[in-house]
Amino acid sequence: RALHVTARRIADDGAAGVVVVSRDVTAERNALRARDDLIASVSHELRTPLTSIMGYLDLALDDPGLPASARGALEVAERNAQRLFALVTDILSASRAPDADPAETLRASMIDLSAIARQAVEAALPRAAERGVVIDTEGIESTAAFADAGRVRQVVDNLLSNAIKYGRDEGRVWIGCTEDGDRAILAVRDDGPGIAEAEQPRVFERFFRADAVRRSSVHGSGLGLAISRDITRDHGGDLTLQSIPGVGSTFVVTLPARRPLPHPAPQESR
Ligand code: ADP
Repeated sequence: RALHVTARRIADDGAAGVVVVSRDVTAERNALRARDDLIASVSHELRTPLTSIMGYLDLALDDPGLPASARGALEVAERNAQRLFALVTDILSASRAPDADPAETLRASMIDLSAIARQAVEAALPRAAERGVVIDTEGIESTAAFADAGRVRQVVDNLLSNAIKYGRDEGRVWIGCTEDGDRAILAVRDDGPGIAEAEQPRVFERFFRADAVRRSSVHGSGLGLAISRDITRDHGGDLTLQSIPGVGSTFVVTLPARRPLPHPAPQESR
């Protein structure tokens, strides 16, 4: 049985006290778990036939004797199959068992955050070049973090890809990282249109896409930032946003700089 307990402090005319409300949320939690299980298995089942479709499209497109009209049609099919695959992959990583202990699925160790930032930039360069975007890496300082390298790379890839996708043509993207006490900090900034103030808190919600973006031809699932924030929080860190419409957006990742110290043993009383 799961109990949801809310405690509220009340102070009324000098009389102070605490009201505790306890509610059985077993049914709610089971329903949530069933929903997440269903989403996870459906997305997983969708990936297998999609992989086969993409494989055959690839094969067909390799045929040099393919008439131009058929090639055009198959290319459109391939692009859409890839979008569907990316969407299904996002949904799969966003649905997770509500009780899963994130610490158990993380493979944290001491990692070189600056190296991950550089690798992510390298991978993003072709997409940046397509839009004439320059990526400034001068702010990348040698930075260590205690984190799961694969997950952190996923976060940095997502932030860079957004900065390029939603930034402006011929724009500029800055990426930097540094250590600040017991935290490692990485920031990705762009000089794009930014995000309206009312929409800023919502960009971390699953499936949320800004109004202007939904009307544009830029594709996305609205899941990337939700997944990225989950990943940073699973590490005990966070992902935050500062954005000024018309000026640009900055996303800031914080991670632990080193392995957390074990709790000190209780002191013996003398
Ligand atoms: P997706 O890119 O798949 O839509 P995300 O979760 O990565 O999903 O982003 C959610 C929304 O936040 C985007 O649809 C866009 O409206 C907004 N957004 C994210 N990054 C930026 C950015 N750098 N500049 C402007 N808007 C952004």
